[in-house]
Amino acid sequence: MIPFIALGSQYRLIQDEVEAAVLRVLRSGQYILGPEVDALEEALAQFVGVRHAVSCASGTDALVMALMAKGVGPGDAVMTTPFTFMASAEAISLVGATPVFVDVDPRTFNLDPGALGGAVATARDHLTPRGIIAVDLFGLPADYGAIEQVANDHDLFVIEDAAQSFGATHGNRRAGALASIGATSFFPAKPLGCYGDGGALFTDDDELAELFRSIRVHGQGSNRYEHVRIGVTGRLDAVQAAILSVKLKILPDELEKRQRVAAAYGLAIQRAGLQLEIPDVPDGFSSSWAQYSVLAQDAEARAACQASLAAAGIPTGIYYPKPLHLQSAFASLGYSHGDFPVAESLSERIFSLPMHPYLEDDDIHAIVGAMRI
Ligand SMILES: *Cc1c(COP(=O)(O)O)cnc(C)c1O
Repeated sequence: MIPFIALGSQYRLIQDEVEAAVLRVLRSGQYILGPEVDALEEALAQFVGVRHAVSCASGTDALVMALMAKGVGPGDAVMTTPFTFMASAEAISLVGATPVFVDVDPRTFNLDPGALGGAVATARDHLTPRGIIAVDLFGLPADYGAIEQVANDHDLFVIEDAAQSFGATHGNRRAGALASIGATSFFPAKPLGCYGDGGALFTDDDELAELFRSIRVHGQGSNRYEHVRIGVTGRLDAVQAAILSVKLKILPDELEKRQRVAAAYGLAIQRAGLQLEIPDVPDGFSSSWAQYSVLAQDAEARAACQASLAAAGIPTGIYYPKPLHLQSAFASLGYSHGDFPVAESLSERIFSLPMHPYLEDDDIHAIVGAMRI
């Protein structure tokens, strides 16, 4: 039986260290923020290559806190992709602003910078365009060079949703550091996951970091009972921080292993002559391979291929079967079928294969060998 992700294999590898770390926190009497969280934030900032890492309760909270720090609210528009997890756009609605969707690139599945300008112009009709949330889908960073150009033309901020891309790179920069604000998630299934919920914000901006730290604890001012703005309960707990500190140490090795798995999949799929498009990683980029997602020619071919894998006991997933502009939660935005043809076509054809650092060559060959397409 091949698992979709293998948190059990990873746990067995780090069990002693994780259990010692958790016990240390339980015995310390300090359960929220504190020294474990401080140490993690320092290690995260160093890993990502930014001045400040501010941990928080989830990836969704990280996005919400970033938008709150930018003063985004009703009447504001924030551009984002419809081909992502709910939270990327939900965060915009949670602060009372309006998500404005922009179609994605058919090869990288990330926000298409060429379509941004038109979306900003349309949004300007009855909203104030304020910023862009670009998503590093499946672990591959978006094209921030091109996105920043459009952002500068229209005086917009850029937030990098790096929930799936922790550890990825573009040039010599890590994901999380590719825009002025990076937001990530430590949900267990992400490339760096804890054993509960967690997230973090990254920035080089001292003032923004200060704002994040205040918003994280109810808009706290100079002391605990002084509130200078509206905030949230967005803290990371010490148990998760201690676990993440252990896991961060093995992440570089895990990223290398994921890289090897992705390369082996690509080679095996090509050699087998399967009618599948394998993921494209443009020059200068590296993916953290949160998912290994392939494209079938149409919905029927996808269903047949998934069925052949299921018959061999191999799990697959579909990220995402329904783009966000067609979700009923966003019905009031007035989008309809046909608005974002690339995202819609991807959602009908894409599926993800098992992906984790501990996938063996034999497993990869068994998976590719079981595919009928
Ligand atoms: C997982 C995810 C989030 C949200 O993270 P949580 O920690 O689950 O709140 C946001 N954006 C993307 C792209 C994600 O995959």
